[in-house]
Amino acid sequence: MVKTRFAPSPTGFLHVGGARTALYSWLFAHKHQVHGGPGGTFVLRIEDTDQIRSTAESAAGILNDLLWLGLNWDEGPVVGGAKNEYFQSERLPLYQKHIEELLAKGVAYEAYESPQQLSAMRQAAEKEKRPFRYRRDMPGRQAAPQEGVKPVVRFAMPYKDITVHDLILGDVTVKADEHDDIVIRKSDGFPTYHFAVVVDDHYMQITHVLRAQEHLMNTFKHLGLYEALGWTPPEHAHLPLVFNMDNSKMSKREKAKVVRAAITAHIAPGLPGVTNPKEAALASYTDLSQKSGLPLPVIQDFMSKKSDAVETAIALAAVTKTPLPEIDVQDFRKSGYLPEALLNFIALVGWAPGQDREILSMQQMIELFSLAGIQKTNARFDRKKLAWMNGEYIRKSSLDRLAAAVESFNAVTDYPLKQASRETLMELLGMYHERMVTLAEMAENSRFFFEEPVIDPQAVEKHIRNNNGVNFLKESLALLEAVADWSKVGLHDAHEKILALGADAIGARGKRGAAAQPIRVALSGNAITPPLLETLALLGRERALLRLRAAIDAQT
Ligand code: GLU
Repeated sequence: MVKTRFAPSPTGFLHVGGARTALYSWLFAHKHQVHGGPGGTFVLRIEDTDQIRSTAESAAGILNDLLWLGLNWDEGPVVGGAKNEYFQSERLPLYQKHIEELLAKGVAYEAYESPQQLSAMRQAAEKEKRPFRYRRDMPGRQAAPQEGVKPVVRFAMPYKDITVHDLILGDVTVKADEHDDIVIRKSDGFPTYHFAVVVDDHYMQITHVLRAQEHLMNTFKHLGLYEALGWTPPEHAHLPLVFNMDNSKMSKREKAKVVRAAITAHIAPGLPGVTNPKEAALASYTDLSQKSGLPLPVIQDFMSKKSDAVETAIALAAVTKTPLPEIDVQDFRKSGYLPEALLNFIALVGWAPGQDREILSMQQMIELFSLAGIQKTNARFDRKKLAWMNGEYIRKSSLDRLAAAVESFNAVTDYPLKQASRETLMELLGMYHERMVTLAEMAENSRFFFEEPVIDPQAVEKHIRNNNGVNFLKESLALLEAVADWSKVGLHDAHEKILALGADAIGARGKRGAAAQPIRVALSGNAITPPLLETLALLGRERALLRLRAAIDAQT
């Protein structure tokens, strides 16, 4: 019996790296269902023991993103339902019981330092260039309780080497003198992650823990706890970290970095009459504070790198119009990636299914998945490949599937595409299906069907003012005005004539697409539109003719 789990901390959005951990855990469980074993189970558990950083919105968002990806769980919280036993904050008595047990056994003890004392001890170690490791026999410990300082409980890590038998990395050993006595109960009475994770993995009978390599050094601590509690640990498999193509880690902080760089590069030096850099910065932060509604100190902390808060980054990106990198699952959703394409892509970030296979259905992934195919070294997140894969998925999807995907995309975005009736949406999908890489691209490029076009002056210059475009527009207008039945069928003859005319008039002979450029610019503001006939039909007679007349009037 195989049981895996995904155990996110609800302190932000679901990162694609987290989604990959969830996917691998899901695949591993499902794989064992497929092969007729006693059945694999995938558990979702919300690790909300950090009272300050955990939020209900974050938990709800993570559940939502997992469901959007299609990673459903066999055990875990009910979406939108009440808190239940899969939230760690609901399981405090259980942790408490086992902390008491370790205290009674003498393998856990209360520690009385204040945060200030601890940081002084840490600094002293730093000065002497030795690593700071809290141990029960270290000199200078605070021996007795102090007024106003709530004690924590620490676990007395055994003085011996500990080896993790990792299913991907092999045996990894940490020497006895590298351990420290970790806190297992914080001063607020909550268990730490280390303690709760061990208790839960035990009680939930998890057989395989798959998680990122950044947890490897935690696993030694957990093994110490399993031993002290007299429990058999699960198997562990640590997954490669996710890196960008430029070798930087694909971290949540990237959004903060990008916004900070944009503000530093464009705004601070740009204010008129301010030359002193400090003053320039302050003036610009004050301006940003007014525009964003964020308090000035929040912006100052953010800009001085004291805080990388993603909410601040998002608010500042909005007022400075800085595009943010896609890092979290919902960023990719908002950019119009299909969940099946994103899943397929992240499956390959660190796992090779063999034989250069790339496009894989969920069923194929289940069949092919194995820990042996997971690489030990950092994995690369190749955005170009993701874009390619999304385009492939879009092209092989039915229009009905795409319509459902657009609906889910519309739920988290605010493009005018939202206004499309089912019929219009199906028409649009028919037009864009073959040419879009993301749904956002279609949403952006189809704006002119829903609102007045934004005219690109360069496109006007190139396609209308030059090349005899105005005359061509006038003649086309006359042909279109004569069309009685404004439908794809009814427009057919006029459309053919226009293309032939365009070929002569603007010298685009042989290039049917190019022949229609002046009309495209008139209708949409630029020369990128789906095929002209469909565009005319969908825009409708009145709007199409109005826009053509306006384009002519603007030049005469
Ligand atoms: N709550 C931990 C995190 O989000 C989970 C680590 C684990 O899988 O044990 O990083």
